[in-house]
Amino acid sequence: MKLQVLPLETFKPHVEDESQLSFGKQFTDRMFVMNYKTGQGWHNARIQPYQPFSLDPAAMVLHYAQEIFEGLKAFRRPDGQIALFRPMDNFRRFNFSARRMCMPEVDEAFMLQALKELVRLEVDWIPHSEGTSLYIRPALIASEPMLGVRPADEYLCYMILCPVGAYYKGGLAPVKIWISDHYVRAAHGGTGEVKTGGNYAASLYAAREAAEKGYDQVLWLDAKEKKYVEEVGSMNLCFIMDGKLVTSPLHGTILDGITRRSVLALARDMGLEIEERALSVDEIFAGAENGRITEAFGAGTAVVVSPVGQFTYQDRTVVLGDGKTTGEVTQKLYDTLIGIQCGQLPDPHGWVDLL
Ligand SMILES: *Cc1c(COP(=O)(O)O)cnc(C)c1O
Repeated sequence: MKLQVLPLETFKPHVEDESQLSFGKQFTDRMFVMNYKTGQGWHNARIQPYQPFSLDPAAMVLHYAQEIFEGLKAFRRPDGQIALFRPMDNFRRFNFSARRMCMPEVDEAFMLQALKELVRLEVDWIPHSEGTSLYIRPALIASEPMLGVRPADEYLCYMILCPVGAYYKGGLAPVKIWISDHYVRAAHGGTGEVKTGGNYAASLYAAREAAEKGYDQVLWLDAKEKKYVEEVGSMNLCFIMDGKLVTSPLHGTILDGITRRSVLALARDMGLEIEERALSVDEIFAGAENGRITEAFGAGTAVVVSPVGQFTYQDRTVVLGDGKTTGEVTQKLYDTLIGIQCGQLPDPHGWVDLL
């Protein structure tokens, strides 16, 4: 397929002070868009000025949430090179999500080529300061106007970019996590392993309740027994227990995070044993109290690695360490991952794709 590049007439002002960059509020000048129609396939792939879509009020995505997305980052390295981190993993997962939601798959190699072209054109938007990056959001939505429940016959696939600031300004800061004993995120056979907006819509109520109580994130338990750890917000959760890294297995209800995959590989490189197994709330509380669990952290593209300071379940709270200091393994995994992404460390797994 040909990629058309349409002219850009107006330019938006950039955020001058990079310490003022927030997450997901400012977008660059251009975006990638392509259309799909049953019988015609994908067509009209273009890089065009960033602008609102004109969608029919009956567009199926607005009613039945046939939608998927991805999230990845581009980094500006000290030597000026631009690096994408494991982008093909994201496009493969995009197609995995598309299949589950009965949406047309995309050509992964073409998507990567289009993304690289878009990032090249928008290269001035990639911030320079340490810890900053360009966040990339590919999405696929059902645009056909029809109020019947079935897979749509028309879709829009697009990619938008936003410069994002350093998530941690004064070093990694441990978060407080509320374990939900009532709301669940995903059940077996559902869409928990799919990156689809509906999962997030369903999570808002519990997240708001947790925020009102002063917690940063909700930890979801399994839907069946409400006993075992699943994941947190948009992060997979890992524990350092008896010197091993313990994390939930990919059994269909949690997202197969690319940061999770990367962290497991790095932990293995560091000589840690990995256990992908069910971990219960009881085990977390006992382990944190008797010192078997020394660290816990979330792993996801937006934050990279986010240390957990404490867990609360019903009326019990357990603090890891002093609740304020990032654990040694967590810090090392964070530093290693960032080091590979930004080019300060070698890339033994071949994760970095330079523009
Ligand atoms: C995106 C996402 C993650 C993290 O995945 P990464 O590929 O590491 O960014 C974890 N959980 C959920 C529910 C997500 O949507």
